[in-house]
Amino acid sequence: MKLRVFHSAGVLLIVLLGSLSWSQVRYGLRTADTDLLFEAGASSPRLLSLAFPGQPGWRNRSSEPLIPFVEMSGKQVPVSWQLVPQSSQADSAHVDLVYESATPHLRLTWEWRVRQTYGPIEHDVRIENLESQEIWIPLQSTLAFDWQLNAHESLQHWFVEKGANSPSPIGTHDVSLDDGYKWTGTSSTYGDIHEHDPREIIPWTLVERPDSAHSGWYVGIEFSGRTSIAVERKQDSLKVTAGLNPDPGPFGTRLKAGEVFEAPTVFLGGFRDGPDGAGNVLRPWVRAVLGNPLTWKDPNYPLVVNNSWGGGMEVNEDIALRMIRDSAELGADMFHVDAGWFRGVGDWYPHPQKFPHGLAAIADDAHKHGLRFGLWVDWTQAGLSTEHGALNARDPKVRDWMVTDIPTNWQPEPFKGQTIDLGVPEAKDWAEREVERLVTDYHLDMLEHDGYLVAHGCDRVDHPHAAPDPLNKCIYKDWGSYFVDSTNSTDVSYHAVRAYYEIYSQTRGRHPGLLFEICNDGGRMVDFGSAAHGDYFSITDTYDPLSNRRAFYDTSYVLPAAMLESYVEKWPTPSIENFRYMLRSGMMGWFTIMLDTTSWSTEQHTAARQEIDLYKKELRSLIRDADLYHISARPDGVHWDAMQYWDPKRGKGVVFAFHGSSEEEKAHAFQLHGLKPNARYRLVFHDHSASDRVASGEELATGGLNVSLPLPNSSELIFIEGVE
Ligand SMILES: [Zn+2]
Repeated sequence: MKLRVFHSAGVLLIVLLGSLSWSQVRYGLRTADTDLLFEAGASSPRLLSLAFPGQPGWRNRSSEPLIPFVEMSGKQVPVSWQLVPQSSQADSAHVDLVYESATPHLRLTWEWRVRQTYGPIEHDVRIENLESQEIWIPLQSTLAFDWQLNAHESLQHWFVEKGANSPSPIGTHDVSLDDGYKWTGTSSTYGDIHEHDPREIIPWTLVERPDSAHSGWYVGIEFSGRTSIAVERKQDSLKVTAGLNPDPGPFGTRLKAGEVFEAPTVFLGGFRDGPDGAGNVLRPWVRAVLGNPLTWKDPNYPLVVNNSWGGGMEVNEDIALRMIRDSAELGADMFHVDAGWFRGVGDWYPHPQKFPHGLAAIADDAHKHGLRFGLWVDWTQAGLSTEHGALNARDPKVRDWMVTDIPTNWQPEPFKGQTIDLGVPEAKDWAEREVERLVTDYHLDMLEHDGYLVAHGCDRVDHPHAAPDPLNKCIYKDWGSYFVDSTNSTDVSYHAVRAYYEIYSQTRGRHPGLLFEICNDGGRMVDFGSAAHGDYFSITDTYDPLSNRRAFYDTSYVLPAAMLESYVEKWPTPSIENFRYMLRSGMMGWFTIMLDTTSWSTEQHTAARQEIDLYKKELRSLIRDADLYHISARPDGVHWDAMQYWDPKRGKGVVFAFHGSSEEEKAHAFQLHGLKPNARYRLVFHDHSASDRVASGEELATGGLNVSLPLPNSSELIFIEGVE
């Protein structure tokens, strides 16, 4: 027997050759925050343990459940998986374990990948059909484990909701994970259509040990289709499953000969210092691993935008040209035409009366004024326009792409029609050409998609996805669109999301530098798959100061602040302090103004110009690069709330402090994070609500930063700078 041991920076790999069986082979992958150990079992692989270096680990006692059968020619055929050592491989950045089944002939690859020296480690499962005929496979989750706990160990469970239509009163959940706890968080592109729907989560969850290190682990899913994460505790067992959503089941997906099923990629990471400690690693990881390198290279990212929706659907050439002049005067980076510019739903050509000289002329005028040009399009929606180039729901070809037959008296809403299923190859090809035409013909620097562009369930039996169960399906109407819910919903979303990703990857490849805004009736597509294919998110569809701050508070736990767009809409601002409060509630991430700026007073105009200037000169670099701390309870609009940016490399930071509507509480102290106790820091109160002063890190961390603002609905920006 020979024993070879390899040590390298990221991996401890022990390969045992000779008489020992492969079931005893273990592998490790490591980043600065995450230590994972794996075992190549003879019939299934296993994640053995996870640890944040130096902290007590988490030991898994179950192997990964691999699909036990497939369906061939209408019959269930059991699968017997066997490790294939010669196909499996590992190095400092990868562990790929390959399992095969002889009959039916299948190959499964269980892969883990280190993408950065820090942060979480990615995991994939792929199943390849090596038969010469079509098979159907049941649901393969991406990751399942069962941590061994101490029976009375106390744990906290964190998860955050999407901002969707409107952030809920809770948003960020921090709950005690006791014996008997059972929770499932779901994500799709359809969250919260109905009042009674459970709130969708950003597909991520975190479990923390409330000891002095506040260490633990988190898992997230890089996919926009129907996914779920389940957490269940029974005494000393904590079972976790992440991947495609199995409900409503049974799930089945078709694999033609040679086709590969790819379970949604997940990432698994360790952390310390609580959810902000996790976030200050995960956010840079998302930027480095999932983000668009060209976007992040742009020093003007995130942009300041002036958006036309302040005037609703009324936008036209005069308004647009006036807004462009005003945008340039205010110092914005981009002019963004929202809904209302087109001939009709599905007919994405400029309305001839509104834009007699077309849209490219508007884009060119924006460019002449030093602005980029962005455009809203709901490009998967069919309407009733019969113009050349329109996606007409009555066209027999288009009718077959839609998720269900619509009644003969159907009419689209002003900017909503009927979703086509992008999982149909012909529909996808049409959409890709249409997106290309929009970007090219209208000289776009940014394309915003909106609406339900990924189909939910689908009624069709001749699409590539599974057919719906005729006895278990529900068809309903919302905002002029018909939706289908059935047992095939997860498979439909699997195909449609993959097509959507491909369209955006291809378009990005042809147009480097083009920006994609992810919007789905507000923040319904806020997930890590979208983060890998777009550049920034509309995080909610409700735009008052409180909703903007709440959606930002929640979402910023897991995604880079620069990617989180707040639209700032008209709100009552009797005083200039209220006006700045309104603007700043949307200035903690990507800042989009959605107001009729020409209706502003001279004082408001001047204040807005100064705020935009401050954003570009001081705030933007912190939003891009600094650590972020949630230094108050979630905003409730009544009490005080605040967020702290701190960039330890530059020794610079800022606190956004907001005084809610309370008349009583005229001052508040916020305990700051990330500072060195013995170091000294200069505090600069931007609005001069207090004299600038120097304080020790210890004072700011324990006594806190005192902010005094007597006026309700007002704000202050306090800049922090390390003093040598
Ligand atoms: Zn379909």
